[in-house]
Amino acid sequence: MFKILFVSCALLLCLAVPESHAIYTHEGYFIHDPQGLYLQEFRRNPDLVIDHRTSLGYELYGPEGLGEYLRQRQIPFSALEDIPGQYIKDAELADYPTSAQITQQLKEIVQANSSIMKLIGLGKSHEGKDLWIVKVSDNPAIDEKEPEFKFVANMHGNEIVGRELMVRLLQDLGKGYQQQDPFIRHLVNDTEIYIMPSMNPDGADKHQRGNSLYVDLNRNFPDFTTEDNTNTQVGRQPETQALMRLESEHFFALSANFHGGAVVFNYAWDTTPEQHPLDAFIQEMGLEYAGQVPEMRDSREFPRGITNGYAWYEVDGGMQDWSYYWHGDLQSTIELSDDKWPPYEQVDHYYQAHKTSLLNFIQRVHQGVGITFLQPTVKGEYSFQNLEDGKVIGPFPFDRGEFYKVLPDGKYRLNITTSGRAMEAIEVAINYQRFSKGTYLTVR
Ligand SMILES: [Zn+2]
Repeated sequence: MFKILFVSCALLLCLAVPESHAIYTHEGYFIHDPQGLYLQEFRRNPDLVIDHRTSLGYELYGPEGLGEYLRQRQIPFSALEDIPGQYIKDAELADYPTSAQITQQLKEIVQANSSIMKLIGLGKSHEGKDLWIVKVSDNPAIDEKEPEFKFVANMHGNEIVGRELMVRLLQDLGKGYQQQDPFIRHLVNDTEIYIMPSMNPDGADKHQRGNSLYVDLNRNFPDFTTEDNTNTQVGRQPETQALMRLESEHFFALSANFHGGAVVFNYAWDTTPEQHPLDAFIQEMGLEYAGQVPEMRDSREFPRGITNGYAWYEVDGGMQDWSYYWHGDLQSTIELSDDKWPPYEQVDHYYQAHKTSLLNFIQRVHQGVGITFLQPTVKGEYSFQNLEDGKVIGPFPFDRGEFYKVLPDGKYRLNITTSGRAMEAIEVAINYQRFSKGTYLTVR
């Protein structure tokens, strides 16, 4: 059976995705494996996804035949429906809006706040549904020199809380702006905020993890540690391609993507045990986020509510690591609720619990410094050297006469090379406070 599983999957791969690796999630189970006895075996199989490891076991997803394989191998497992937090009751399904209703809600919110919001279609899902993102900023029609920030939710279709939180966040940004809330006005006036409530509307409507082809979108991105290590959209799912296009057309410096099935702030790397160059800094941001969400802060599973991704379980092809490795966009993965699809009336509770952290996290994009060249075609490379400890962050490439980087407080020497020639180094200081504005320097 194992062979059949493997062969059928290899066949699917050839037919559907010639150049990148897609992992199919037709079947999903909870593996009772508190000691991780089977983890190595599953990790070695490139067609399986391990998710949400706990002290009791973990979720395992794969193509058709996975259950049969587990039975034959006599590996103890349960249907996900039998695990608390995984089962979606029909009545709960009915209470949630459909993707079409979410589209309508977004249109109404943007229309009511048209001076600060713009609805942008990033393309279509596999089934042809619009992939919406909302830009929130003063002068939303213009690309201003302001730090760019993004939230992406619901890339796993059955992890629904993030989508609902994003809709409520948009409503509150609109309301707060109109009511002259000083912090919200600062965020909207000084930032270009992008909010995508649902990256996977097909999966949301089908209440399933993958997109309509069952592909796991959070395993569908390029990965610098695997053979799928070219930053190309070719052969990837339409939803993945849409996100890749968005990232390449902007200068996002900080972002988060939302999931469900656990409660924790997960930080890079996911794909390698090596330490991320900004490890201490991301932990600090994670602690700030988790510290204001009681359920996260007081977690028994994760001390202080944060975890390094790889230390929890390895993820190859995830969006988080891809965004920093190729685009310098510091991204974290925020798990919002143990229950992936809780009763609808609990959504407001989750939103109230996370609201302060969401707003403060957006503000963090202003802890940084950027450069704009007078000539928008300038390209080259840059790096920041911390003047206290000598550590170098970068180099990062840039190609459209602009970049912006989020960094820990400190003094830096910014080294820029254009057309192979080193420019004179620029000294910059970052000193972050509430209401801070990220610095942009203009260079000839
Ligand atoms: Zn997820």
